[in-house]
Amino acid sequence: MTCPDELVEFVQQTPRIVIVGHEEPDGDCIGSQLALGSALSRAGAAVTQCNPGPFERREIAPYREQFITDYGTVDARSFDGVVVVDCSSADRLGGFAPIVEHLPTAVIDHHTTGVPFGTIRCVHPSIPATTVLVYSLITALGLEITPFEARMLFFGLSTDTGFFRFLDATQWESVAVAAELMRAGASPRATHDAMYHNRSRQSRVYLARALERVDFIADGAAALTFLTAEDAIGLGSDNRDSDAIHASLLAVEGVEVLAVVRELDEKRACAVSFRATGDVDVAAIAAKLGGGGHQKAAGCRIREPLVESLRVVRSSVLEALRHGS
Ligand code: AMP
Ligand code: MN
Ligand code: MN
Repeated sequence: MTCPDELVEFVQQTPRIVIVGHEEPDGDCIGSQLALGSALSRAGAAVTQCNPGPFERREIAPYREQFITDYGTVDARSFDGVVVVDCSSADRLGGFAPIVEHLPTAVIDHHTTGVPFGTIRCVHPSIPATTVLVYSLITALGLEITPFEARMLFFGLSTDTGFFRFLDATQWESVAVAAELMRAGASPRATHDAMYHNRSRQSRVYLARALERVDFIADGAAALTFLTAEDAIGLGSDNRDSDAIHASLLAVEGVEVLAVVRELDEKRACAVSFRATGDVDVAAIAAKLGGGGHQKAAGCRIREPLVESLRVVRSSVLEALRHGS
């Protein structure tokens, strides 16, 4: 896949660049930000990293200190341009959303949904991770990938592909990129262990709660479960192992769609994660509820307490399965 010339020129001609990623960042977002920041610094730019957080996911917690999280401490006039990565709508930039209104903005992303923004857009929904697009930008700049950048890019690709499990045969190009990243110093084993090992004992209790509460609906075609604010307080929100919950429930015979509804601290809203195997488009379900994502992995926020959120999610999933989404 090629990187648009105008994106290459934009980063070459912007001396002071701020890189911003989406709220509640994941490995693809953090990996894209840090690898791109490293490469642009090497190319001579002054780079500032911003992300609104929170840095809840355990595998990204070690990188938290490398980001400015409070927009109040940032002055847009200190920069010449913005690069937004892995983010399909400006509202997912949290407090940093105004920055894209004040500065020339390039967007590097792979979501199918969202409200387009930015002056230069490199958005490819068929590419499984934003880090693959960042890889092509770094190579288009004529730079060799450093071992740090290789590790960060591999981390993002592994995150969004469920360690390559979600790829189909058409996406071989991304595996070719993975091979190049290994050549440059990325280790699948080290990446895997950092992402999936050393989980706390509490995380297994979290997993058990999600599993014991599951409700199979639509004749078993969908699994619906929830996590409460008390779970997060008692077990520690950084002990939530979402990937293990998703993998365990999607493995159940007949299940095509999974929804995990997570009550947020203030108990007036919930975050929902959708996952699919097969052809149901969960991005379409999430988009109807004000969120978005990808065909097989999407999410949204619902500004209702847990019981009402569960009802809304249940009826949205049933409707999507009835009509196709
Ligand atoms: P998650 O279930 O939180 O891992 O999110 C899965 C996918 O859905 C990711 O690609 C997110 O970018 C996307 N997503 C999650 N929450 C939202 C939201 N509120 N709005 C738009 N996209 C979302
Ligand atoms: Mn992401
Ligand atoms: Mn992504």
